Amino acid sequence: MKIAILSRNRRLYSTRRLIEAAEQRGHQVQVIDVLRCYMNIVSRKPSIHLEGETLDTFDAVIPRIGASVTAYGTSVLRQFEMMGTYTLIESVALSRSRDKLRSLQLLSRKGIGLPVTGFANKPGDSKDIIKMVGGAPVVIKLLEGTQGIGVVLAETSQAAESVIEAFMGLQANILVQEFIKEAGGADIRCLVVGGKVVAAMKRQAAEGEFRSNLHRGGAASLVKITPEERATAVSAAKVLGLSVAGVDLLRSARGPLVMEVNSSPGLEGIESASGKDVAGIIIEELEKNARPGNTKTRGA
Ligand code: ADP
Ligand code: GLU
Repeated sequence: MKIAILSRNRRLYSTRRLIEAAEQRGHQVQVIDVLRCYMNIVSRKPSIHLEGETLDTFDAVIPRIGASVTAYGTSVLRQFEMMGTYTLIESVALSRSRDKLRSLQLLSRKGIGLPVTGFANKPGDSKDIIKMVGGAPVVIKLLEGTQGIGVVLAETSQAAESVIEAFMGLQANILVQEFIKEAGGADIRCLVVGGKVVAAMKRQAAEGEFRSNLHRGGAASLVKITPEERATAVSAAKVLGLSVAGVDLLRSARGPLVMEVNSSPGLEGIESASGKDVAGIIIEELEKNARPGNTKTRGA
């Protein structure tokens, strides 16, 4: 097959591993920077161009679109869908997963375990929101945050109110969430590919920190997940329509709770913690499904 990987940097670990895994299986790979693509939206003949060339010969597209280029990246992906090219992650699923609130709304409708979460627009509502999620301590999160930046633990209602009002004063969108203390500063990352958990790892926060992100000094290790955790991760990926997803779970007293679903999960931590060839598994999933017109949504 001829595969396009939409990534801004071919030297990133995950991009390199996907190239390697695809080439090992006899495929031809081109890495494409979405920001350098331009598109022609013509009746019945959509096209994508890069440096004078038309990109119309790919059998499959693997998006690895960074959070900061979500909007333009998703429209390039959608254009591939319009042309009938198979995309590993559908554009609708990608933009859905990039919106934490929208994801939580869809997951809650399907009864998937979630931390109790509040959302509001006006500072005047902060007292009631804190009460609604069960009172302090609460976790306050910037909707657009990644790598644990913009995730704050407020131990008292007073601290929580001040933080909420400060964020709202800056016009930032935030979530207010019950703090899952019994998770003990750890979370479980489940890598779901084609409806199965193919690898899992536990991330433990550094001493004195509640955020387990590897970027915040967390440490990854191999973990054995329970059947309930496995089922939760698989359902979460399915509800969001993602054939590849990194599902982050918190182990709570009432069972696994989904914290976040990532549509471009990093492969480095999970491959080294689990010893699995996750990139190879992703390429095999692509081989099973890549046929022209096999992407279900067409950007709807
Ligand atoms: P990001 O998307 O920036 O990584 P997360 O929502 O994943 O933000 O939060 C970062 C980390 O903070 C998580 O990995 C987890 O360890 C911790 N955390 C987040 N929400 C909660 C919560 N409600 N209760 C307990 N710990 C949490
Ligand atoms: N319309 C679809 C639904 O209700 C998708 C909505 C969305 O992605 O937000 O499930």
